[in-house]
Amino acid sequence: MTMTTGISSIGTKKNSINRAKVSSTRRTRRVRAALSSSGSKGSNFVVRASSSSSSPSDDENNSLGIKDTIIVGGGVSGLSTAFTMKSKNASCDIMVTEIRDRVGGNVTSKNDGQYIWEEGPNSYQPGDAVLKLACDAGMKEDIVLANPDSDRYVLWDGELRALPKDIPTAVLGDFLTWPGKIRAGLGAVGIRMPKEEGKEETVKEFVSRNLGEEAFQRLIEPFCSGVYAGDPAMLSAEAATGRVSVLENKGPWPGLFPGALKAQYEGAKKKKENPRDPRLPVIEGQTVGSFKGGLQTLPEGLAKQLGEGIVKLQWKLIKTEKTEDGLFSLTYETPEGEKKVKAKSVVFTQPAYVVADTVRSIAPEAAKSFEKFYYPPVASVTVAYKRDAFKLDGRSALPEGGLTGFGQLHPRTQKVRTLGTIYSSYLWADDGRCPKDEFMILNYIGGARDVEIQKLNEDELVQAVHADALKTILKPDTPLPKKVGVRMWSKAIPQFNLGHWKLLDEAKELLKKEKCSEEDGLFLGGNYVAGVAFGRCVEYGVDQASDVLNFLDKQRRTV
Ligand SMILES: Cc1cc2nc3c(=O)[nH]c(=O)nc-3n(C[C@H](O)[C@H](O)[C@H](O)COP(=O)(O)OP(=O)(O)OC[C@H]3O[C@@H](n4cnc5c(N)ncnc54)[C@H](O)[C@@H]3O)c2cc1C
Repeated sequence: MTMTTGISSIGTKKNSINRAKVSSTRRTRRVRAALSSSGSKGSNFVVRASSSSSSPSDDENNSLGIKDTIIVGGGVSGLSTAFTMKSKNASCDIMVTEIRDRVGGNVTSKNDGQYIWEEGPNSYQPGDAVLKLACDAGMKEDIVLANPDSDRYVLWDGELRALPKDIPTAVLGDFLTWPGKIRAGLGAVGIRMPKEEGKEETVKEFVSRNLGEEAFQRLIEPFCSGVYAGDPAMLSAEAATGRVSVLENKGPWPGLFPGALKAQYEGAKKKKENPRDPRLPVIEGQTVGSFKGGLQTLPEGLAKQLGEGIVKLQWKLIKTEKTEDGLFSLTYETPEGEKKVKAKSVVFTQPAYVVADTVRSIAPEAAKSFEKFYYPPVASVTVAYKRDAFKLDGRSALPEGGLTGFGQLHPRTQKVRTLGTIYSSYLWADDGRCPKDEFMILNYIGGARDVEIQKLNEDELVQAVHADALKTILKPDTPLPKKVGVRMWSKAIPQFNLGHWKLLDEAKELLKKEKCSEEDGLFLGGNYVAGVAFGRCVEYGVDQASDVLNFLDKQRRTV
């Protein structure tokens, strides 16, 4: 039997205003009530049979017997896996353990009765995986989609310029200069230097080579800040933009454009062969999604469906062991005292630096690899202004004041510290998230190239984003805004930097040496494995459910 001592930190620093604390308590009560209202065993699934077995001696030791699967982490990754496992096989005996007093992980929607705001992710790309999961969980009516015509702006030379939505606007618009357009166009059709054999390129190298330096600076660099809060000179093209980087060699001849055409053709063919689930809402243009009341509605809904018999809040994993008969034995500190649970399989969806502690004594070398994944700090700062505070140059004005559009991104070269600003009041106008005479914006600040952000307190963060908003969207002399919610994430988003996949493979290989691979029942999930986007975490979590069920099935057949 090998052993490890578990974790005490969850890696995020709560730094919210009192209002947030009040709403968090309310939300916890709501989650608890929701969890407990879902049946005596807590589950809304029809349980045909239970495969768990607990011996009397286990019970004496305060053990909960043997589970089929324990999923550690109640973020979107873990809950997607858990919900899908139960949907596919109601009789599998699973448990989701979450260290916090609420589910959602990074997904943190706050509601103080006057404002609803996001402290973590603000929206998701409405891919079919998320929409289907929401429909399966009976939450179709909760899906909200932003106006698909919303513009995304990028700051360049003091002006906010709308990102081109299609090829004609890219060619005719002023987003790129004519030399920049010609370089990007020629590169896209394949007239560019080929990739150096065997080299892993950074996002900066990949885009500059394919589309030119100007397209990189104006188009892609701000997205690296916006999505990863990352450094494009460090992010790996293959790991961070996998679906785009493969396009270069996908088409009938090398180049992003022929690759994109082929991908489009394949996508259309696939759609014909597998017609879309008719329950899913139609997605128009380049919209983004949320849920009524905020993104956290989804994890809360999934947890409610699973019930309190399955989802355990405030369960802190303190020890992971492997038993001689190949089971995993997890020891937790819980509100009801210490508990030990055995399982045939485990899915770890905690952040990599937490997994490092989790596996340290069963696989000390693997723990060293997990420690190497980098999560820079990011602060989310939500503020509200009077609607007439905004200058509306270059945008269509709302009759009642405020801004139209998805939001704006700030390339690092433009000397604006805030990474990007989301126009929350416009995006979710129908969801009543802010008083009607105010306009709420969400700013993200910090990231891999501004780790000093951690030194600022809440008021300084508000002042910093306000100073930047004065440079771009506010009328001069606009007074400081109302502080709605501020949160410092000291370890925010895993960076898919050069060597990311190699590091993950290395960690998995070292786990395998200690009989802790997928073949032994240990599955790794979460955003540093799946990809950072909310939708990608859901997609991966759903797929992982099948892998775990297959493992259990195989095990059952070999016993
Ligand atoms: C500030 C910020 C803004 C973002 N913006 C966007 C966006 O707009 N759109 C988008 O698509 N994505 C965005 N993302 C990324 C996205 O939110 C995440 O990648 C995704 O939510 C991760 O989900 P997860 O379940 O993999 O991990 P997490 O949400 O980290 O969940 C892991 C869970 O494990 C729990 N845990 C940790 N330790 C233990 C333990 N010992 N025992 C039990 N449980 C434990 C944690 O409490 C947590 O609940 C953003 C992320 C951040 C931080």
